[in-house]
Amino acid sequence: MSDNKNKRTPISELGEFGLIDRITGNFSTKNNETILGVGDDAAIIGSDSKMVVTTDILTEGIHFDLVYTPLKHLGYKSVIVNLSDVYAMNATPKQITVSIAISSRFAIEDVEELYSGIKMACDLYNVDLIGGDTTSSLTGLTISVTAIGTANEDKIVKRSGAQKNNLICVTGDLGGAYMGLQLLEREKSLHDQQYNQQPELEGYEYILERQLKPEARKDIIEELAKAEITPTSMIDISDGLSSELMHICKNSGTGCHIYMEKIPVNDQTSDMAKEFNIDPTVAALNGGEDYELLFTVDIKDYDKVVNIPGVTVIGHVCENKDEKVLVTPDDTTIELKAQGWNHGN
Ligand code: ADP
Ligand code: MG
Repeated sequence: MSDNKNKRTPISELGEFGLIDRITGNFSTKNNETILGVGDDAAIIGSDSKMVVTTDILTEGIHFDLVYTPLKHLGYKSVIVNLSDVYAMNATPKQITVSIAISSRFAIEDVEELYSGIKMACDLYNVDLIGGDTTSSLTGLTISVTAIGTANEDKIVKRSGAQKNNLICVTGDLGGAYMGLQLLEREKSLHDQQYNQQPELEGYEYILERQLKPEARKDIIEELAKAEITPTSMIDISDGLSSELMHICKNSGTGCHIYMEKIPVNDQTSDMAKEFNIDPTVAALNGGEDYELLFTVDIKDYDKVVNIPGVTVIGHVCENKDEKVLVTPDDTTIELKAQGWNHGN
């Protein structure tokens, strides 16, 4: 599990408090909104702005598989999935808390690996680790991260603000994380069947990274602010485009038209989808864990929004809430379903 295979110190050697000191010792706080970090009964935070709070729990065997997920990547990803939710409110993440339940299968070095990924995400996204909890578990690892962010009240974007004729936009490309997971699962089962077979992952680095080391779209939130665009509604794409569109439509009381050929899909995603006999559009619609942003903007912002690199307009919002459709290149309409992607949440 740890990169440092030689040294495996049992957690009991340090005890709970020693372990907490070890893992939090090299974090320092950077944000003015963080008044007191780790080390007391509670952290102190404060801001003149509104604050947003979100939390996610990741459980071994349900949300991740340590056979092909390095602990450092897992730590990184567990922070990113929460920051992505903060950005999806058009807010800026400032603090996180991290709680872990660990079994005796894990050594101190493993927990350090996990926290090196957590620290990397904190440094890159300018977020402070301000607390958490540490406990033991009978089997496996559970990680729960809570993220706190700030936003001006008039800039906060909910799922409920989409209006007729708004443009529907997505960032990046979709379906990659799902195809990366299919590849990892396939190589894992081949490895289980034929001992010693080396995994064939070459040429698929992009989709593997989409699965193992996703990023949150901080850059897009900054670009939208620079362009003085406030989306009318927004959500992050954790369960697939289709399911997220349903959330926006349901909360806004609208329908939507999206165009199949506009949905951004990376070449490696399409290639892998074809290998698995999956339609790449289906991977984009129903695959999960891309952590891109889906948002709607007023049509007057068209010129500004198409000039932001990484943003694609894929359709528009319509009034009839029973009309949620995908339009194919030959103009057939297919009803969208909230299939989502079952990753145990
Ligand atoms: P308490 O007994 O009040 O729950 P703890 O001994 O659990 O306190 O925690 C001591 C300090 O360390 C607190 O500031 C807490 O937020 C922090 N902490 C505990 N576990 C973690 C962890 N896994 N990651 C980050 N901070 C932690
Ligand atoms: Mg505690």
